[in-house]
Formats: sequence, C-alpha cells, structure tokens
Amino acid sequence: MRRIATGILLLLLAFSTTPARAGDLEATFHDVGQGLGVSLRTPSGKWIVYDMGPDNEAGERMADDLAARGCTEIAAVVVSHPHLDHLGGFGPIFARFRVHEVLDAGVAYTTRSYRAFLDAVEREDGCRYRIPSTGDTLSWDPALAVTVLHSDSTPGREVNNASIVLRIRHNRSTLILTGDAEKEVEAEMVSDWGPRGLHAGLLQIGHHGSHSSTTAGFLDAVHPETGVISCGTGNSYHHPHPETIDRLAHAGVACARTDLEGTIRFRSDGTRWRRVGAGGDRVDP
Ligand SMILES: [Zn+2]
Repeated sequence: MRRIATGILLLLLAFSTTPARAGDLEATFHDVGQGLGVSLRTPSGKWIVYDMGPDNEAGERMADDLAARGCTEIAAVVVSHPHLDHLGGFGPIFARFRVHEVLDAGVAYTTRSYRAFLDAVEREDGCRYRIPSTGDTLSWDPALAVTVLHSDSTPGREVNNASIVLRIRHNRSTLILTGDAEKEVEAEMVSDWGPRGLHAGLLQIGHHGSHSSTTAGFLDAVHPETGVISCGTGNSYHHPHPETIDRLAHAGVACARTDLEGTIRFRSDGTRWRRVGAGGDRVDP
C-alpha cells in the first residue's frame, strides 16, 4: 500500500497538473514536424519565442498554443539561424501577436523565406532588430539570467554554426537552447564557458539529434538530466541519429522527442524542472 502511495506521489511530482503560477518558468517544445519551435513563459509572464517551425501550418499551431495560454504579445523572437525549418512559421506568429524585439544571427543569407521574414520584421511597428554577440546577457526578466553562449555571423561559416545558443537560468533550473549548432561550436563553448558556465538540467539537443552535434565532451560539460529532440515523424534526414541516442543513453540523459510525443512542456519553480501536460494543464496521457 505504501509503495502504491509512493508511486502515486512520484507520478504527481513528475506530471504536475496545477496551472503555471506567477514565478514559474515554462519551456514548451512545440510539435512543428521537422524543424524547431520553442516558447518560454517567463516568471513575470512575458513570452519569448525561439524558432518558429518550418512552415505556416507549424507557425499556426504554435500561435494557437500561445494564444490558448494567454499570450497576446511576444517580448522577443529569437531566430537561431536562417534555415527554413527554424523560421518558416513566422507568418502566423507575426500576424497574431505584437512582437517587440527580434534577435537574429545576422548571417548574409538570401533565400526568399529569410528575406520575407526580414520584411515582416521591418513592417512590425516599433520592433527592435538586433544581432547578439557571444557573451551578451539578455534582460528579459529579473528572475532569469540569460546568456548568449554563442552567436557568430562570420561569412563562409556553415550556417548551422551561426546558431544563437542561449542559456536560461531560473535559480537552480537551467535550460540551453542550441538551434542547429554542431560539434565545432560545442567544442568552442566547452572551451569558452567550461562545465560551470554550461551546466543545465534541460538541453535542446542540437540539429534535431543529427550525429553532427551532441558530442560526449559537450554532454559531459552540460550534464543535463533531460535532452529534448525536435524532429518530424519519419523525416527524410533520419533524425535523430542512433549514434546520438546512444550517446544520450550512455551519459544517462533522459530523452524526450517531439516526433514520438508531440508538444513537450516543462515547468520550473526555480528548484527543478518538471514535465507538465502539453494540452493546457491536463496531465499527459
Ligand atoms: Zn534545423
């Protein structure tokens, strides 16, 4: 009986059903298919979007989820890098919410979708546009310490490696968003920041779980409890790569995948991350 009670208690701890309270940080990895779309609700109730999925349909689904949770305006949209699978959903996001600031990798990139995105930013009244630098801190919320771990628009560099990488710390709960940063950038970050600067309980696994990212050295430095892989079911890139899954297992990192689980949401009260139900506040099935 006691064992059952303990089991129920653990289940309640693992899947909190209570609504987010002021003071909580929520991180949502949206089900955008083959791409990436993340949103944050900060402890003071501001909304941040990091990448917007590959197309309008994905952007619409993200926008629906944000609106259902009370979002009316977005403090900052971060585009990790200008590949379509990270910005193709900008249309519905910009159409439905006022966007106050855009952070962009600033790579010279000439695709039609990227140009259309820059046009949308220009049309957005009062929207600030900036290209962050490695080491910048972002003052989104007094309860958060947000550091730009990497941003590099050097011409000729592999576009994935221009990715803006962010570390978001809420007291003892930390999250790293890597975009599609590959092993070269991971090595740079390990040498720039070391394990103290990289440690995070929650890690967005780079480049959709491709074997080009998530080196053992980087995993060792970040030492996450959970890694989240965003990729599409049956995608033609065969993401995630079995090597990456093996490396995560070897490092004892729990793996959450949008292709298998749909939208994935975590909440922090500043002490630890908890997985919460993705559909409003219902419990995950
Ligand atoms: Zn990508």
